[in-house]
Amino acid sequence: MKPYREMSKEELASEIEQLRAEYRKYQGMELNLNMSRGKPCKEQLDLSMGLMDALNSDADLMCEDGTDCRNYGVLTGIQEAKVLIGDMMENNPDDIIIYGNSSLNVMYDTIARAYTHGIMGNKPWCKLDKVKWLCPVPGYDRHFGITEYFGFEMIPVPTDENGPDMDMVEKLVSEDDAIKGIWCVPKYANPSGISYSDDVVRRFARLKPAAKDFRIFWDNAYGIHHLYDDRQDYLIEILAECKRAGNPDLVYKFASTSKITFPGSGIAAMATSPNNMADIVKTMTRQTIGHDKVNQLRHVRFFGDIHGMVEHMRKHADIIRPKFEMVEDILQENLGELGVGSWTVPKGGYFISFDALEGCAKDIVAYCKKAGVEMTGAGATWPYGKDPKDSNIRIAPTYPSLADLKIAATLFTLCTRLVSAQKIYEEM
Ligand code: PMP
Repeated sequence: MKPYREMSKEELASEIEQLRAEYRKYQGMELNLNMSRGKPCKEQLDLSMGLMDALNSDADLMCEDGTDCRNYGVLTGIQEAKVLIGDMMENNPDDIIIYGNSSLNVMYDTIARAYTHGIMGNKPWCKLDKVKWLCPVPGYDRHFGITEYFGFEMIPVPTDENGPDMDMVEKLVSEDDAIKGIWCVPKYANPSGISYSDDVVRRFARLKPAAKDFRIFWDNAYGIHHLYDDRQDYLIEILAECKRAGNPDLVYKFASTSKITFPGSGIAAMATSPNNMADIVKTMTRQTIGHDKVNQLRHVRFFGDIHGMVEHMRKHADIIRPKFEMVEDILQENLGELGVGSWTVPKGGYFISFDALEGCAKDIVAYCKKAGVEMTGAGATWPYGKDPKDSNIRIAPTYPSLADLKIAATLFTLCTRLVSAQKIYEEM
């Protein structure tokens, strides 16, 4: 089939008629499918049921250093968990704080602390007239939700396959001391699946922010979430790079086991410099006597070490790789020649990012919904939920079964064709 824009008005009208008939068939199927959130599917969760056996009522809940995990204490996490998570994050165990189950919660908390009490003696952000935040787009809606909640002015920064536009980032942070942070998902990003290039990571580590309390929020949520054994992205380790660049305190790095074990009850962590850590611990001592050490120990016993975790991630990949590939095949087969959209083909992570023709995303998502397929809301990948081009749609292929995904992805391509054809026809 030729590209829609090369079709005559008559050809396009007949295509639209056919697509509408096909769409009506889907509406008659009363589907109830969901490609909206990046959740592991049941088979993925089943991989971690061994966690339930890792500890039982006979288990020895003493750590190697004699800490009794059942009791209070050990604010920043048990040593064996720091070693395991340190290996996962490629950081020294001494630079790690282990928290509760959610890294998003840690990001929120980190901003809340800066807001009420300030970072390392700097003025609390609540006392400033204005706080601004850089938001690489497309990005993660829940990141933007946090900075919107605190009333920060969010500035979108375009990204390409190498990461954010660093000319723009460098210029903005060096000129404006109201800019206090940037959201980054540096590896297998949500939603594009891209990983930052070496040059981008090096430039991040060498930023010269006007604000002394500017921090990079480096959310490495998908650090070991490869889809392929033989084709993996590698990332320069940011903490070490910041140290090399003479900027040791520039970054807070986050991760969790949410998409390794259970999103509802994994463990979350931050890696950061000793100065930042001392600053954070001052507040933590007021917040809690310690997080869930039994869960930390359970994870350590379940995995043994990083090799156990890497092996475990291969099993995840075996479950979700066919889903990614199926969606990519359906996109290619049904849209490849039509010139109505482009999409990413990630080597890891949880998402495919789709760019429709300008002005079409909202309608595509609405058409999907009317036929029973829920997509992430159009606009969600932009600050304030406003995609100025109304073009980007996040596709989350992991949760549905392969059979459901096939129907959902096919319907998505049908809606994309229909909305695009109608739009081009109207413009003729
Ligand atoms: N960061 C990113 C980039 C994510 O995609 C997600 C989950 N969708 C999270 C953080 C949430 O992490 P957690 O479960 O550790 O709160």
